[in-house]
Amino acid sequence: MLLFIVFVIFILWLFQIFLLDSFYREIKLTKIQNLSSKLVMNIEQYDEYDDIPSSIQGDLKDLAIKYESNIYIFIKKENNTYYTISSIVDSTGDTFLPSSNIIQQIWQRAKSSNLNEFMIDASEISTDAIVDPNLPTFHRNSEIIYGQFAKLKDNQEVLIVLNTQLLPVEVATETLEIQLLWIVIILLLFGICLAFMMARFISEPLAKLNVAAKQLPNGKYDANFDATGYLEVDELSSTLNYATKQLKKSESLQRDLVANVSHELRTPLTLISGYSEMIRDIPSENTKENLDIIIAEANRLSDLVNDVLELSKLQSKVLESKFEVFNITNTIDEVLNRFSKFTENHDYVLIHEGTIDDIEVYADESQITQVIYNFVANAINYSKDTSETRSIRIVQTRIDNKLKISVIDEGIGIKKENLENIWNRYYKVYEKQKSKTIGSGLGLAIVKEILEAHNFAYGVNSEYGKGSEFWFILPIKQKNKE
Ligand code: ADP
Repeated sequence: MLLFIVFVIFILWLFQIFLLDSFYREIKLTKIQNLSSKLVMNIEQYDEYDDIPSSIQGDLKDLAIKYESNIYIFIKKENNTYYTISSIVDSTGDTFLPSSNIIQQIWQRAKSSNLNEFMIDASEISTDAIVDPNLPTFHRNSEIIYGQFAKLKDNQEVLIVLNTQLLPVEVATETLEIQLLWIVIILLLFGICLAFMMARFISEPLAKLNVAAKQLPNGKYDANFDATGYLEVDELSSTLNYATKQLKKSESLQRDLVANVSHELRTPLTLISGYSEMIRDIPSENTKENLDIIIAEANRLSDLVNDVLELSKLQSKVLESKFEVFNITNTIDEVLNRFSKFTENHDYVLIHEGTIDDIEVYADESQITQVIYNFVANAINYSKDTSETRSIRIVQTRIDNKLKISVIDEGIGIKKENLENIWNRYYKVYEKQKSKTIGSGLGLAIVKEILEAHNFAYGVNSEYGKGSEFWFILPIKQKNKE
């Protein structure tokens, strides 16, 4: 800030004080040069001296006032005397006649410079005795005399002389110096305030955020980004807080995943090794039942590993949904078929109802099969233990050009507060409810990934103790239409 202020003050000093004189001279000079060229063009359009109209006097007067200069237009006669154009105007608009002495001096000086254009320092012009004291004469040292020759059409030479006064800049410089002093004081005060505010509202909170952010690579996700300042700083704080929260969540999910997978793997592995050892040590235990248990547990292991792989593929988006048209009614029947052996041995009935005429839908068939399979498996798993036959209904409902598929059970239901979490992997409402058939704790997480990748609406309605309805909606393929 200090450097910036010093720079601004330096620039002000350079332009307003140091270079003021030369700037002022330069600007004045350019102004009269322009005026002179204008006058030359104007005069050169006349054939001879007599053609110059007397009205030119009025124009000259206006120009003299506007440019704050005296305007002299001389024409030399043969006998070394000079005409002036009517009279000569000064910067106040008064007309006067200069002494012929002065005219002669200027003319000679101009001629001796041998140039079409010339500039004379006023101090070089002698204004001796002949000068009428009432007439404006050249100010010494502080004037510019600028002249240019023009030619009338009859080759008569005309000399246009402009004489302007340069005001002494010392007074202005002094004023500006005092002003500059005030500007320095004001700028410094302002700079201090600004620097303080920047430190308070930008640097300080950023430094604070930096300290907190440095904790993240060490796995300290409790870091709180509470720095406040300007809007952007506040936004950065809340973004960092959000990112930390997500990181924390993802890390804990990661940890849970490892813990859960190992836990889930351990149970069947323990059972397999236990039964195998038993069969090895006690030959009479080599029964079909025991071997069935080993096979069932090995299958469970394989299912679990498949689910973990499936979910991780879905989540990393490696698996793209392959959209195709297929008959959803058939697909559901095939899924139900896979459960038939199980339902025969236990008291379950699986009912497929609703608009079950052949309906074609547009989605990834194998993924949708997986969704229905997981819903039905859950419905079976979470049905109540009763002596009665338990029914699970798979209902197809047509809504305009969409199809809603619901898997409805009359099982244990889900409490309201758990409804949101069941879609998270390894979330288990009832820890003790061990799967009777399948179930890796990833079923609904897989369903969620698939349906979200398809952009299909899905959800659950459930009443604790009464049963649940898991549903999703998919588009029907219209006949003869894309
Ligand atoms: P799991 O292998 O534990 O069944 P899921 O992801 O399939 O894993 O289901 C998550 C949890 O949601 C289950 O543990 C269960 O508590 C609950 N849940 C799922 N489906 C049902 C249902 N039909 N009835 C009651 N609870 C269910």
